[in-house]
Amino acid sequence: MKSEILVIKLSDLDNVAVVPHAKGLQKGTTLDDELIVQEYIPMGHKVAITDILKGESIIRYGQKIATADDDIKAGQWVNEHKISLPVPPDLDSILYVKPTVQKTEPLEGYTFEGYKNNDGSVGTKNLLAISNSVQCVAGLTEFVVKKIKKELLPKYPNVDGVVGLNHSYGCGVAINAPGAIVPIRTLKNIALNPNFGGHALVIGLGCEKLRPESIVNNASDDTSIFYMQSESNEGFMAIVDDVMSLAEKHLEALNERKRVTCPASDLVVGMQCGGSDAFSGITANPAAGFAADLIVRAGGSVMFSEVTEVRDAIHLLIPRAVDEEVADALKREMLWYDDYLKLGQADRSANTSPGNKRGGLSTIVEKALGSIVKSGTSPIVDVLGPGEKIRKKGLNFAATPAGDFVCGTLQLASGMNMHVFMTGRGTPYGLAEVPVIKVSTNSVLSKRWFDLIDLDAGEIATGAKSIEEMGWELFKMILDVASGKMQVAADKLELHNDLVLFNPGPLT
Ligand code: CA
Repeated sequence: MKSEILVIKLSDLDNVAVVPHAKGLQKGTTLDDELIVQEYIPMGHKVAITDILKGESIIRYGQKIATADDDIKAGQWVNEHKISLPVPPDLDSILYVKPTVQKTEPLEGYTFEGYKNNDGSVGTKNLLAISNSVQCVAGLTEFVVKKIKKELLPKYPNVDGVVGLNHSYGCGVAINAPGAIVPIRTLKNIALNPNFGGHALVIGLGCEKLRPESIVNNASDDTSIFYMQSESNEGFMAIVDDVMSLAEKHLEALNERKRVTCPASDLVVGMQCGGSDAFSGITANPAAGFAADLIVRAGGSVMFSEVTEVRDAIHLLIPRAVDEEVADALKREMLWYDDYLKLGQADRSANTSPGNKRGGLSTIVEKALGSIVKSGTSPIVDVLGPGEKIRKKGLNFAATPAGDFVCGTLQLASGMNMHVFMTGRGTPYGLAEVPVIKVSTNSVLSKRWFDLIDLDAGEIATGAKSIEEMGWELFKMILDVASGKMQVAADKLELHNDLVLFNPGPLT
């Protein structure tokens, strides 16, 4: 039996270590190097492993995460009340040097059963998507979705489901403001998500600012747009009947789709965190990063996102850009977000939540250093603006806010066909549009939420499994879920969140 791990230190440079045990560390506990714990320290929190003087740096992951506000003695608890946030890395002073690309061995022979699309993308589900151009028709969409589920779906056994893509955009917005491009292209690109087989149907009202033609990909096809205000219908049920008959045409086509064997290179995996804790950067994110590297080696695509959670680690990401253009694009997205936050009189420290802090994440810098680990070690081949469609295989940075539903919605628009979501505090997060594998950062959560979590990466902290073993397990789970062989917890329980658009433009 392996001896119990009392604290976890990730770099020799670190002057703090994290407590992995569910019961925390009791006062008086002796650590490996004769260090005595001075006060009770809860699970996920940090203990000083050397004396740290006022003004000195707190080092975790070999990087500065904060400055000590007072002297901290070895063995004392290091939390957000004793430290201050350092300034973020200065974008102008990070110089780009083209990295020497290390050849990695291609990973061959891994496949999944997916639905091939005409545009070359591959779905992991076969769904009818009903989008709309304005929130006014959300009620009609909901009504029709329920009716289709009950009356039509049983006739089309190869169709996995029907989803209504309701949102809050479409009217009462400054549609020509520069920021409007983000929600508009998001809606347009979501309709192109591989899981909808190129068959999204758009319901419009008729008088709204956002024209359905601008978000549908095949406007010339008279089965793709329906206007509720069309004068040919009298009464609500006539309207519903019209939508039902359009939907049926799409269902007939979707029902022809069958799963076929596809190479792992057809995966487009969106990585995200929500409700992070101090274990995120030790367990779940390193395992996700390992799986991300496997996907990239197999020729597939991985996206990581959440600008405020990479901002403080940008100096570690820029050197991984494949060329200067990508490095500049990374800086550009950071700068755009700095300005966006400034406009709202906030900064990146607004990111950390009370739950993050209770989980041991004292600052956004600490959160960011743990967060970027999920990108693995591959070169960054491209940077996508919010809601842009993926263009290149390999590791992509898709710029999004960090809020779970906004990030998930934007990654859907970028074309993800699988979602991997790491959580430490616990969230029931799920999306109807794409399978979401939920990975727990600690075993306490996986045990308590045994039916909500798909994979327990907490076993890394206890020493039961290595990062490599857990990374392979996640990679194989991604293939099984993508094939429809395994159903994720959120789908079993039908726990699905709303789409939430990112709209940096003004309302009118
Ligand atoms: Ca998030």
